[in-house]
Amino acid sequence: MILFTSPNEWKELKNKYFGTHVSVGFVPTMGALHQGHQSLFQRAKHENELCIGSIFVNPTQFNQSEDLHNYPRTLHTDIVSASSAGCDALFVPEVNEMYRGAIKSEHSDYGLLTSSLEGSYRPGHFDGVITIVRKFLEIISPDKLYLGEKDFQQLAIVKELVRRDGHETEVVGCELIRSKDGLALSSRNTRLSDEGREKALIGYRTLIEMKQLALTHSPQVVVEKGKAAFNQKTGVELEYLTLVDEESLSELNAWKDARATRALVAFYVEGVRLIDNMRIRP
Ligand code: AMP
Repeated sequence: MILFTSPNEWKELKNKYFGTHVSVGFVPTMGALHQGHQSLFQRAKHENELCIGSIFVNPTQFNQSEDLHNYPRTLHTDIVSASSAGCDALFVPEVNEMYRGAIKSEHSDYGLLTSSLEGSYRPGHFDGVITIVRKFLEIISPDKLYLGEKDFQQLAIVKELVRRDGHETEVVGCELIRSKDGLALSSRNTRLSDEGREKALIGYRTLIEMKQLALTHSPQVVVEKGKAAFNQKTGVELEYLTLVDEESLSELNAWKDARATRALVAFYVEGVRLIDNMRIRP
């Protein structure tokens, strides 16, 4: 696997080493790679001639400097992990390579997609995401961009970004990968104690319960019972739990005429913010 750190190096690699006609699948990450990331690399390699990854902890998408500061950085093991999952070349830029001059994001308003849920609890987060993904798309210009359903709202937003900016890139949403006991894999899980990790399973267990309840109960009752499960658990602080239409992310009030519906949740355990989601119907 080749490491590169600048857009010019990528141009050189593409033109002189890999060839301009090879199909490129791109997997952007912030590192601290786990099997969730690896599944994206594997799929990108399977569906393209070249699999390109990036590791960049994007400062503009963090709204708390402490979270940015605490974000795990494990480049040496990440290199082994990306390579073993099929990554051909890994882009690892410095901050000043991606942000020339001021480290700031542009504001983007995609209506409910950017204003709801993560958008309302993490102001500016999606401005940072959109800014950096736009830069990556311009630099790498991939045929396909691989993103995990783990960040379901981000996936919907990047699809909209690609549509609005008129990129030819296809955005591929990849299945959320969980540990054996159901915990959604996340780089942030490494900050949980064993006890915290056990508490964090409330996310997966409640989503499963909601899926069952949705067979016989109204959306409101499903959400109420889900929230009650969180509120009964000590050491867990619920931020939001909701049922939304998968495309528009608008909240669901009735099953009648409902299209694909997903439950999205955010909660804190031991000061670590965790998100999870699951298709509830059909
Ligand atoms: P991150 O490094 O957290 O920015 O994630 C990079 C990419 O990996 C994003 O597209 C995430 O949605 C995806 N990802 C993270 N965790 C998982 C997971 N457990 N399953 C599938 N994809 C994931």
